[in-house]
Amino acid sequence: MTDSGDVERPIVVVVGAGFGGLWAARALIDSDVDVMVLDRNNYHTFFPLLYQVAAAELAPTDIAFPVRSIFRDAANVRVRMAEVTSLNLDARTVETARGAIPYDAVVLAVGSEPHFFDTPGAREHAFPLRWMDDAIPLREHVLKRLEAASGLRDHEARRRHLTFVIVGGGATGVEFSGALSELILGPLLRDYPDVSPAEVSVVMVETGDRVLASMSPKSSAYALDRRPPWGFGRGGMSERRSPE
Ligand SMILES: Cc1cc2nc3c(=O)[nH]c(=O)nc-3n(C[C@H](O)[C@H](O)[C@H](O)COP(=O)(O)OP(=O)(O)OC[C@H]3O[C@@H](n4cnc5c(N)ncnc54)[C@H](O)[C@@H]3O)c2cc1C
Repeated sequence: MTDSGDVERPIVVVVGAGFGGLWAARALIDSDVDVMVLDRNNYHTFFPLLYQVAAAELAPTDIAFPVRSIFRDAANVRVRMAEVTSLNLDARTVETARGAIPYDAVVLAVGSEPHFFDTPGAREHAFPLRWMDDAIPLREHVLKRLEAASGLRDHEARRRHLTFVIVGGGATGVEFSGALSELILGPLLRDYPDVSPAEVSVVMVETGDRVLASMSPKSSAYALDRRPPWGFGRGGMSERRSPE
């Protein structure tokens, strides 16, 4: 009971406004609890189309949805933008950069971290494609490589700028390889007429037996068949096994 005589209701803190967190909070709308949704961003990201942001096919705002708007009409749901740093299980609080938030129950839906499958050098040097904040630097890097290559006379130096290696032949790797090939060999080469398609290489490195390993063998075969016709290595998307 509060000082004003209101009956206190249990507080459910949902950490993460991704698919898991949003659906958990939505399930509690109009229920007999107060819900607090926390996310380090004030938007929900639709990750399935993140590769299109990285390949300049979509703007970030096309795949970001304000979390407060999603719960605008939910009287028992509040939203706060805060980075969660830890849980204090004894005090039953969620610790954030903006202070501690008490909970009766907590839902942790903070997603996952990129996996590099021990690919040498990938963790240190690659651009991960996991969060919105990853997509923009990756896109800018691609554009800057074209810019750098177009100013050079040395053919091999140009090729080095124009060789793009994608680590991982899962869904995102395959999708991004295709979108990157389309971006470079479509609009970008029109903007850089001195760059030849033969100088561009999009290489996919996959340690497993096939790309799209979590899908059917038919899907894997289809993905490989759909490689651009300019072949392995130069100017196309290729699948290579990483060194033993
Ligand atoms: C590039 C990419 C493409 C994908 N494509 C597909 C697809 O085509 N089809 C499909 O079914 N699935 C796809 N997935 C997988 C799908 O996006 C995930 O399964 C799904 O997002 C998992 O939901 P989640 O709620 O567990 O985590 P997420 O959606 O990752 O959400 C986690 C949330 O937690 C927040 N968060 C994390 N840490 C903190 C913290 N410390 N403090 C505060 N907030 C925090 C994040 O900001 C984020 O909003 C893709 C994933 C990626 C990365």
